[in-house]
This record gives sequence, C-alpha cells and structure tokens, in this order.
Amino acid sequence: AESWHGVPQAPPDSIFKLTAAYKEDTFPQKINLGVGAYRDDEDKPWVLPVVKKVTEILLNDPGLDHEYLPITGLPSFTSAAAKLILGADSPAITGDRVASVQTISGTGANHLGALFLSRFYGFGEGGRKVWLSNPTWVNHFAIFNNVSIEPITYPYYDPDTIGLAFQPFLNTLRTAAPRCVFLLHACAHNPTGVDPTREQWGQIADVILEKGHYAFFDCAYQGFASGDLEGDAWAVREFVKRGVPLLVCQSFAKNAGLYGERVGALHVVAPTKEAAQRIKSQLSVLQRSEISNPPAHGARLVSLILNDQTLFDEWKRDIRTMAGRIIEMRKELFRLLSEELKTPGNWEHIVNQIGMFRKRRLLAVSFLLS
Ligand code: PMP
Repeated sequence: AESWHGVPQAPPDSIFKLTAAYKEDTFPQKINLGVGAYRDDEDKPWVLPVVKKVTEILLNDPGLDHEYLPITGLPSFTSAAAKLILGADSPAITGDRVASVQTISGTGANHLGALFLSRFYGFGEGGRKVWLSNPTWVNHFAIFNNVSIEPITYPYYDPDTIGLAFQPFLNTLRTAAPRCVFLLHACAHNPTGVDPTREQWGQIADVILEKGHYAFFDCAYQGFASGDLEGDAWAVREFVKRGVPLLVCQSFAKNAGLYGERVGALHVVAPTKEAAQRIKSQLSVLQRSEISNPPAHGARLVSLILNDQTLFDEWKRDIRTMAGRIIEMRKELFRLLSEELKTPGNWEHIVNQIGMFRKRRLLAVSFLLS
C-alpha cells in the first residue's frame, strides 16, 4: 500500500453519484433529473415490448451458445446498424466503403473513434486537438484526453437566445486551422437539446468541406429525438452525401432501452472500399488489445430487431412511444409554466428544444404533472 501513497482520491462521478443519492432518498415526491434514461408514466425504467419479444426468441433458440464474437463484432449487427444510421441507399453503403466495428455502446464507440484518430489521423497545424461544442457531454473531455488528443471548445449554446450560437460556431469552423477534428452531436444535443436546422447543417458542412476538417459524429439518440429514425439521421446522411470525411459513433442505449447491455458501433466512412478495409483492419487491432471481443447478448437482440421487418416496425412503434412522451412532457411543462402558472419569462425553448435535455434536464417531469 505504501507505494500507492501518491494516488490522489478522485471525486465520484457527479451524475452517477446523484443516482445513488436518489435511490437512497425516501422523499416520496423525489424526481431524478440526473442520468439521461427514459422513464414511463410511473417513473419506472421501460423495457421496450419489442426487446421483451426478441429476448424470448433468443432464450428459446436451441442453437444459442456463448462463444466469442469476432473481434469487430456480430456481422449481422454491424452491417444492419450501419444501414440504420447511414441509410441503406447511402453512397457509402452501396460503395461498400464503411468500416464498422461493434463497440461498448456509444462510450466505447467514442473511445475507439478517438483512439483511431489518435493513431492515424493526419492532424494539421492546429495540433492534436479536437473541437467540442460548448457545452457537451462531459465524458467527451476525458475520452479524448485519455488518448492524448486535447479537447478545446467551439461556441455552441447562446444563453441569451437559449438557442444555437450559430454565427460564432460557423466563425470558429472558418478560422480554425485546416484539417481540424470537430465533434458534432448528430441529433438531440446533450446537454442543451439545441440542434442546428437543416439549413444550418448545410452551411456547417460547406465550411467543413472547404477547410478540410473532419466530422466526428456522436449519435446517441437516433429516433429518440423526433420519433423518426430517418429524420434524426438526416445530418449524418447529408454530410456523407456531400462527401464530408467523417465517422459516426452509434449507441442503442436510449433508442432500444438497452443501457446496461452496452450495444453500439463505430462506423468510419472511407473514401474507397479499399481504404475502408485497411481502416477496419486497424480498428480490429486496436479493439483486440482493449476488449478482444464485444459482448454478444445485446448485439444479438438488436440484430434480430434490425433484420426482421415485423420486429423493426414494432421497434419503430416503441420509439415513437418514448419520443412522443418526451415531446408531450415538454408541451405540458410549457403549458403549466406559461399558461397555467403564468410564470414570468419566455418558456418557448422548452418546446423548441429536442430530446431529453434542456439546459436543465427534463426527464421525470411526469411526477410534477401527476
Ligand atoms: N454520447 C452522448 C452525447 C451521450 O449523451 C451518451 C449517453 N449519455 C453517450 C454518448 C454514450 O452513452 P452509452 O455509452 O450509454 O451508449
């Protein structure tokens, strides 16, 4: 123990600490606005009906074993997951130039993506840095620091308008050194709930292309933002169509309610099929030393859902249930604050923002309303 006296005590993770404190609290009207997890009308975690169904299917499969998956994951999962985010008709998919690897949910995808850039990206005169939105999911800072890429921030949220600081953001893209890496939230920006409009995304893509920047997309909420899987993937697909060099981190934690199963993927869109193969070979080498093989169960569940039209349609219904409830909660909170309580101030950002977050979180509002 002597030799470890130099190890300083680290503070507990603030969000998970809050969850633990919430569990211990006996106050009957308590509300957890901490970790971003969906709750139903009873403030309970919601197991998606389609997930219950595929769990049954898996359990009853006599051929089910517990062997290792390939290093890069379950192929039927990664290929369907790539089509889900990029679109089956994406030029990247039809050109067979996506390197997809199964990861430990979205966090693992961010890590593997960051590690890959750390090893192989040709950082320009701007140095080994990544531009993150101000604010962003706090874990982004640690994830990039861990692989020796320095996080710096670009203006994103404007407290005066409670909206996007669009011009300052665009100016940063313009004035940054060429070939910088910009992390972008694909939809339902965490923690502001403020997303660019399609028109704004177009302008962002223009500047990124012009400056030769790299787009590091983090997509943790596809379908969860609007209820529409396609709509929430719009920005990523548009960037691919325009030929922006990019990768996408994908999580099934929220949209499939599989938080603890750690189902995700990293998709690196390459300029050619041959480049995609080389990239995948290196991702495989990195993955081998980190986790050897990704976990099978959650990937099997999602693969069943994505590869069967009936189950896929059921999943889309479940997604609409979750997104619809979040949108309803926003409307109801807005109605209560502005119309019923006549609270001074403008509360329209509550209905204009998207997903589970606003500057403060908006999760278990059902309690306030019941
Ligand atoms: N990125 C963002 C922006 C997130 O909000 C989250 C979840 N809070 C994640 C990534 C990763 O989540 P997970 O590892 O559970 O998929």
